[in-house]
Amino acid sequence: MPKNIWIGSKTKKKFKKNIKGVVKGLSRKITVYLTDRESECPNCYYDKLNDRSSGVAKVAPSSPTYFTVGRCPVCGGRGVIITSRKKCINANITWNPTQESLNALSFNEAGSTGVTKVQIKTDPCYLELIRDCKKVILDGVSCKLATPPLLRGLGTESILVAIFFTEDTMKVRE
Ligand SMILES: [Zn+2]
Repeated sequence: MPKNIWIGSKTKKKFKKNIKGVVKGLSRKITVYLTDRESECPNCYYDKLNDRSSGVAKVAPSSPTYFTVGRCPVCGGRGVIITSRKKCINANITWNPTQESLNALSFNEAGSTGVTKVQIKTDPCYLELIRDCKKVILDGVSCKLATPPLLRGLGTESILVAIFFTEDTMKVRE
């Protein structure tokens, strides 16, 4: 095997290990909230005109959720089911990241007075999740996405980097 290829794969492995270390080793659990999903109740007919359940079951009488009187036991008479979507993932959290790393993301400082910036690094597989999120809970603090998340690095060795703002101005005790 040629020497340079051997070094190449070794360096690659080492880099991959470092990335994994960043995500797993120093990471904490963060909660990512996605926009609520509204879907028609699978158990009853939805009454579009009145925006509620028609009160008529659409499942077979043999179904445990079948009903003939009262409210649909699945949607509670709303006709729709609202699914709150959230997911816990591991991420490396940096509160008040250095200006250097912010510049690398073409970060726009305007309009950000009074809020705290926070950078997260995580697995690239969460790109869509982070991009579409409503908010995240970082160390118990509710934050909103400041800039679209970016992938840093190359191909499978990349890492996802995203900047968030705290939703409320954090009170600093002196
Ligand atoms: Zn229903």
